[in-house]
Amino acid sequence: MRKLFFLTLLPLYLWADAHLFVFHRFDDNRHPTTNTSTQTLRAEFEYLKKHHYQVISLKQLHQALQNGEEISDKWVVLTIDDSFKSFYNNGLPLFKEYHYPFTLFVYVQATVGNYGDYMSWEQIKETGKYGEIGFHSYAHPHLVSMSDQAIIKDSKKGLDIMQKQLGYKPKYYAYPYGEYNARVRKQLETFDFDLIINQNAGAVDKHSDMHDLDRTALTGANNIKVKLRTKTLPTTWINPKDWPKNGKITTLKATLPKEVKKIEYYISGQGWKVATLKDGNLAAHVNQRLKMHRTRIFLKSGNRQSSLMLVKP
Ligand SMILES: [Zn+2]
Repeated sequence: MRKLFFLTLLPLYLWADAHLFVFHRFDDNRHPTTNTSTQTLRAEFEYLKKHHYQVISLKQLHQALQNGEEISDKWVVLTIDDSFKSFYNNGLPLFKEYHYPFTLFVYVQATVGNYGDYMSWEQIKETGKYGEIGFHSYAHPHLVSMSDQAIIKDSKKGLDIMQKQLGYKPKYYAYPYGEYNARVRKQLETFDFDLIINQNAGAVDKHSDMHDLDRTALTGANNIKVKLRTKTLPTTWINPKDWPKNGKITTLKATLPKEVKKIEYYISGQGWKVATLKDGNLAAHVNQRLKMHRTRIFLKSGNRQSSLMLVKP
C-alpha cells in the first residue's frame, strides 16, 4: 500500500515501478501451491537477464525509498519466505550462479525446534554470505487474532534469538501468511524495522509506504513476464479498511487519481465487477457478507493494480 498525500500530484504515467517477488519452496512437489521448480526459476532468471532487469537487494531499495530517489522500472527484488531446506538445497545454487541478491525471511521457531523441512542456523549463516536475512516472526502465528502483548512477545523472542545466533537483528519483517491490519502494523513498528512487507500483489514506486510494501508471489508456472507488467495504482482505502465488525461490506469506497474513470474490482467470493468513478471517487454498492477468513480486494485499471487483505480476527 501507499502513503496518502500525493494522489493529485502527477499524472499516472510518470511513475516507474519496481517489483518485489516472494518464493517459498523449490523443487518440492509435495506442496504445489508454494513450490517453484528450479527449471521455472532458471527460466525466470533468464527472462530477467535477457530483458535487462536489475536484481537489487532490499537494502538498495530501502535506500532509494528513504532518499526519495527515482525507482527504476527495471528493478526487481527477490525474497524467500520460511527458510525451507529446499531453498538451501535447490534454490540457493541458482541465485549464486546468477549472482542475484535476495532476502531470506526466517521462521525462527522452525529452526530452533529442528523442524524437518527447515534450515539449520549453520545453513542460514552460510546463506547470509550471499543474501540478506530478514525476520518472519518467531512462531509464524496469525497475528491479527493475537493481543498487542502477544505480538510484541513473539517478535522480541525471535529477534533476541537471531541476535544470539547471527550477531544482529534483521531490519526487515515479512508478515506470516501476509496477514496484518493497522493494529498489527503498529505493534511491529515499535521494533524499528527499515521495511515491513506484506503479500499483496502489486508494485513499488517512490511513494510506496516503507512499512507496507506490496509483494507478489511467484509459484507454479513461469508467469514473471505478466507479473512484471503490473504497475501501482495509487489508492486511498476508505471503506472497508479492516475486517468489518458485522462481517459485511455494504459499500466499497476508495479514492483514486482523478484520471481513473472506470475500475474493475474484485472481492474474494464475488469475482470481478466494473464500477465507474466520479472525480476519482469509488463508491460501489456491494452488499456482501464475507465468507473467507482472508478476503482480498483488488482494484484494477488497465495494468495498474492495488489490493487490500481483510483478515477475520
Ligand atoms: Zn511464511
